Amino acid sequence: MVGAGFAGLYGVHRFRTDGLSVRGFERGSGVGGTWFWNRYPGARCDIESIYYSYSFSEELQQEWTWTHRYATQPEILAYLNHVADRFDLRKAFAFDTSVTSAVFDDESQTWTVTADNGEIVRCRFVVMATGPLSTPVDPQIPGLTEFGGQVVRTSDWLDEIDLTGKRVGIVGTGSSCIQSAPIIADEAEHLHVFQRTPQFSIPAWNRPYDEDEIARIKAGYPRMRQDAWDTVGGIIYEQADHDPLTATPEQRQAWLERTWARGGYLMIASYPNVVFNDEVNSMVGEFVKEKIRARIHDERVADQLTPTYPFAAKRLCVDTDYFEIYNREDVTLVDLREHGISHADTGGIVLKDSSRIDLDVIVLATGFHALTGAILGIDLRGRGGVTIQEKWSGSAANHLGLTVAGFPNFFMVSGPGSIGVLYNMIPAAEQHIDFIADAIAYLDSHGLTSIEPTEEAEKAWSAHVNEVAEQSVYPKANTWYMGDNVPGKPREFLAYAGGGPAYFEHFTKEQAEGYPSFVLRERSSR
Ligand code: NAP
Repeated sequence: MVGAGFAGLYGVHRFRTDGLSVRGFERGSGVGGTWFWNRYPGARCDIESIYYSYSFSEELQQEWTWTHRYATQPEILAYLNHVADRFDLRKAFAFDTSVTSAVFDDESQTWTVTADNGEIVRCRFVVMATGPLSTPVDPQIPGLTEFGGQVVRTSDWLDEIDLTGKRVGIVGTGSSCIQSAPIIADEAEHLHVFQRTPQFSIPAWNRPYDEDEIARIKAGYPRMRQDAWDTVGGIIYEQADHDPLTATPEQRQAWLERTWARGGYLMIASYPNVVFNDEVNSMVGEFVKEKIRARIHDERVADQLTPTYPFAAKRLCVDTDYFEIYNREDVTLVDLREHGISHADTGGIVLKDSSRIDLDVIVLATGFHALTGAILGIDLRGRGGVTIQEKWSGSAANHLGLTVAGFPNFFMVSGPGSIGVLYNMIPAAEQHIDFIADAIAYLDSHGLTSIEPTEEAEKAWSAHVNEVAEQSVYPKANTWYMGDNVPGKPREFLAYAGGGPAYFEHFTKEQAEGYPSFVLRERSSR
């Protein structure tokens, strides 16, 4: 098991419960994955806590009480530490340890996994629970290493930094910036936000849960989980009672106001076809743009902060008081579309028009080599010594976002082509782990040794993932969903946009029909 985040922890628990022996590796010094590393000020989950949590143990659901609608990073990390202790998961892992290679041996049908602590493990199965957003991408700013102040990434901001009296620049305006900038603005002497592309962001309207609410949730958890499972995104939400294309403008406005008041990421579910129908997309997009503009006093700054691409084509952000920071004297928006960054020097950042911005701290909130980065970072060799880098040189071919042809007994939790990043990540990870555990049990009970998808199934899945995405607005913006933020990465959609029920149906069918899209091998048949 590679990774001790949500997926890796549950994986160790489930596999051990099934009687398997598991060795885990985690590059952090503790459990938590994303929630271990991303400790920037203001980090919190933008999916509601009662959904963004494990469903596998009713006891756990009953004993843990979430304090807020959207939990902070420390609260989520405390939850994962609690889970690790409660299910005694820590001892399976080597911490501060990265896996450097995993090589499949055709003869014995086993993997040899090597870690940077010198440990070598021979195993039958390799599970990459390495997270879809875990490999940071640094901007190529010439001279950044010359900068005399401090450079910190939001994605590994481990120690608290006192920003009092400091001139801070933050590069990038995705979720990590949008969550951290309001807190940084309160602390710093002056904040410059370097924006390349404006973002759609919806207010979180975060609040504490009250006791009655928690009691109601706890009394109905199993039902709530089931109902959530049956939705497109893994979260229960109120749906529109009208078709936006035939409704009156008043009806639409009233409904969008209601979804706005509900707040958060669920604005993406304001209408079921919002990412698939350009007209509906534009209606919702225009509504949100007006809301954004209303939060900013200066017309020119409001123009600069208004997105110009389809609504939700880039991953929606969820904020608390983000746009309002631009009404402060001590916050400046630097629109990089006017003047890009030329370079950094010892004192700060110099723009292409030669203007310079003096800084004490540069925060990089510039995103991740999403979905494939962590896997490509390992020397991974499948049948015949083929490397994953060779295999994925033109496209991250895979089946169901979970398996790769030529890489037997190799699984990726929420890998490229999976629903993960377009669904509630936690039940999606639980479902992948359960499928893997069931597949292993199937192999063992049928005297089989290995499982890998057929080339045909893989081609069909990759085509299907892109075909669904082509019908949506997703390819119409430069995004990490499309691999655009990493130089040289093939441009293709890296998630499944067809919704939970359609996605999970594929897994149900595989199990019911004896894994028809997979090759199952006996040791003797080789
Ligand atoms: P991101 O959304 O990829 O944003 C990166 C930002 O950096 C973008 O604004 C990008 O601009 C900018 N950028 C990249 N290279 C640059 C350069 N060379 N010069 C200037 N700007 C540059 O990254 P993120 O904010 O870390 O979020 C990534 C994902 O993590 C999110 O979409 C979300 O799925 C997840 N996340 C979730 C939460 C949560 O609450 N659950 C919080 C944080 C993150 P362009 O847009 O022009 O490329």
